[in-house]
Amino acid sequence: MKCPFCFNDDDKVVDSRVSKDGRLTRRKRQCNVCGKRFSTLETIIVSSPLIIKKDGRRESFDRQKILSGLIKACEKRPVPYQSIEEIVQSVERWIDETNLKEIKSEDIGKFVLNKLKSLDAISYVRFASVYLSFKDINELYENVSELIKKQSS
Ligand SMILES: [Zn+2]
Repeated sequence: MKCPFCFNDDDKVVDSRVSKDGRLTRRKRQCNVCGKRFSTLETIIVSSPLIIKKDGRRESFDRQKILSGLIKACEKRPVPYQSIEEIVQSVERWIDETNLKEIKSEDIGKFVLNKLKSLDAISYVRFASVYLSFKDINELYENVSELIKKQSS
């Protein structure tokens, strides 16, 4: 660990404490060059969660899948690529923050739709028809009319 005062890479750990829940380790270090003390915080990084598909099968999270799904939904629509990329990034951030081991693909779909809602209604419906797999045309209609109501209010 580089010393924040003199930037030398030579220190020793003088104290080490694990938080109550065991998820954080705080280490007090002392620089062997300038003698100043500083602390570091070590935390667990959980690998990305498994996605539970509608049929109950699990698969690992695949950003490319969401990206290509969005690109398909936004095809020939006035949605800039940058916005699509931003949605995918916010999904990754959200997954990272929730820290869950497993996430339903439906929940990811809903999260994406929530972002897509304000961008483009047509893309929203296209994406929704794939991800939410409406039971019938009435359910799709209800969903869309709700969206229209929200947009015109
Ligand atoms: Zn130092």
